[in-house]
Order: sequence, then C-alpha cells, then structure tokens
Amino acid sequence: MVTLSVVTPMFNEREAVDQFVGRLRPALDGLGDSYEVIAVDDGSSDATVSRLMQLRVDWPQLRVVALRRNVGHQTALRAGLKAAQGDYVVSIDADLQDPPEVIGEMLAAARSEKVDVVYGVRSDRSTDTAFKRNTAGLYYWMMRRLVGPWVSDQAGDFRLMSRAVVDVLNELPEPRPVYRLVVPSLGFSSAEVGYVREERVAGETKYPLSRMIRLTFDSITGFSASPLKIATWLGLFSFLLCVVLIVTGLVAWGSGATVPGWTSLYIAVLLLGGVQLICLGLLGEYVGRIYAASQGRPAYLVAFDTASAQTAHPLSG
Ligand code: UDP
Ligand code: MG
Repeated sequence: MVTLSVVTPMFNEREAVDQFVGRLRPALDGLGDSYEVIAVDDGSSDATVSRLMQLRVDWPQLRVVALRRNVGHQTALRAGLKAAQGDYVVSIDADLQDPPEVIGEMLAAARSEKVDVVYGVRSDRSTDTAFKRNTAGLYYWMMRRLVGPWVSDQAGDFRLMSRAVVDVLNELPEPRPVYRLVVPSLGFSSAEVGYVREERVAGETKYPLSRMIRLTFDSITGFSASPLKIATWLGLFSFLLCVVLIVTGLVAWGSGATVPGWTSLYIAVLLLGGVQLICLGLLGEYVGRIYAASQGRPAYLVAFDTASAQTAHPLSG
C-alpha cells in the first residue's frame, strides 16, 4: 500500500513533462511518505507517452496509464482515480499551473485537521488571461446557484482526497462527472490551502472555448433537471390561459359576434395545445426521475453512527 497517489492527466504535454517531473519528484521525495505518480496520457498525439516511458526507467514510482484516444480532462482524471491505490489521492495539472510543492501542505492539512478533502484554492489568478478569468467567474457564479453555496469559486481540480472520497467517486455510474462540483456536493469535511496560480510552463492551453462550453453543459445537466421541467410549467400556464380564452370564445359565440365554425376550431386548437404541453411536461418529470436514478449519486453519506463500532473516517484514527 502507498500513502499518496498523485494523478495527473496529460494531453500533448511533451513540452511541459520534463519540467513538471523535475519539480514534482523532489517535492514528493521530500515528503517522507510512500507515493505513486499516475500519469494518465489522454490520447496524446505528440511524444508524451514515449517520454514518460523513458522517465519511468529511473523513477519506479511513476506509473503510466495510456488511454487509447483523447477523452477529455475530467474523464482522464476518472481513469487516474480508478487506478490510484493510495490512502490519499491528489489530482494535479501537468503544466505546473498547480505548484507540486503545495502537495505537502495539503497532506499535512488533511492529517492535522483530520479532513477528507483539501482544496487547492487559487489566491491569485493574475497569470490567467482576462478572458479565462471572466468566463471562469461566470461559470462559478452559475454553479453556486445551481449546485449550492459550498462550491468554492476559486477551486479547480487541484485537490487532495482521502480514500473514502475516492471510493465514493469511483462508484458513480454517471457518464461524465464534473469532479470540481461532485466532490463538494458529497459533503465530506474539508480544508483549503491557498496557492498562486502560475503561468503554464510550456505549450498552450488544452481547454479551447468548445471544451469550456462542453464542461458547462456537463455541469448544468449533471446537477439540474430544471430545463426538463420547463415544459410542465409552460403547460400548466398555457392550459390556464386556454381555459380563460375558451370562456371568452364561448361568450363571443353566445353574443353571435363570430363567423360560423370559428368557436369550435378555436377551442379545439387551444385544448389540444394545452394538453400536449402538459403531457410533454409529464414526460419531462419522468425523464427527470430516470436521470436522477441513473446518476446513482448517494442520497446521503453517514459521517458516523454511534451504533457501529467503526468510525466512518478510518484515516482520522
Ligand atoms: N488535459 C487532458 N485532456 C484534455 C485536455 C487537457 O488530460 O483533453 C490535461 C492537460 O494536459 C493538463 C490539464 O488537463 O494537465 C489541464 O489542462 P490545461 O492546462 O490545458 O487547461 P487550463 O489550465 O488552460 O484550464
Ligand atoms: Mg493549465
């Protein structure tokens, strides 16, 4: 068993990998704990894998998990979490934007404060572009409203998690969990460690606008079925409106102020429209329930129970 697993997804990071390893290795060697590094190659088309295989020769703690094709940052992370065996697991980017030296602080915080999650919180993002900062600000603002106030607006995917958390994450059957939202929503005890977001050390961002939009859609549909429920409210509203309009139609007919045939057509169109929307909303409600069930998220997690001998958090001793 190892104490610490460091998971790092890499997509075309050939230019960054040497500098990354150059800083990661001394940081981990200095900890005095056993560790493993799991580099998940996310279907790179450059020489990332072959370079990793070379580095492995004199760094036995480095394990390379190569995915067959590019599946995206979050899914690559998922492969890494599955492979990790440590009591604690840290996820970190390979471009040195997350300083490896902070891992030691995270581990110390997890132990001294006896918490299950330690978030790396960006205390300074000035090295990110204004565009990145603004879009990220908008994203976190939206997610706090959708998911809950416990989503920190400066916490990305640089975090440490205990085995208990990783086990829960690995059980999730949902297709593309957005970890930065799922982890806080589980409600494990947590602490924060601040760090300065550095500039990408080499290469360029692997998160173009299209991927940021993809992440946003996954985040919304991953946490809310409310778009599905719009039809229900629309249906109810228009049905009520139809009832009023039908009454006015009948009154007009009674006073003889209509063309023959108009009233029956008018009523038929309104009724059918309202009924259809309500049925659509009803379908949405059921799909919403199927969706929630298919996500398989735990409805609750017990922190401890006085009736059971074991504490829920084996690491807290
Ligand atoms: N990454 C990945 N697969 C992808 C895109 C990115 O594994 O399809 C990795 C990338 O190699 C890096 C991390 O995810 O280690 C964060 O990506 P990046 O630094 O490009 O994102 P940014 O910091 O610009 O948001
Ligand atoms: Mg980066």
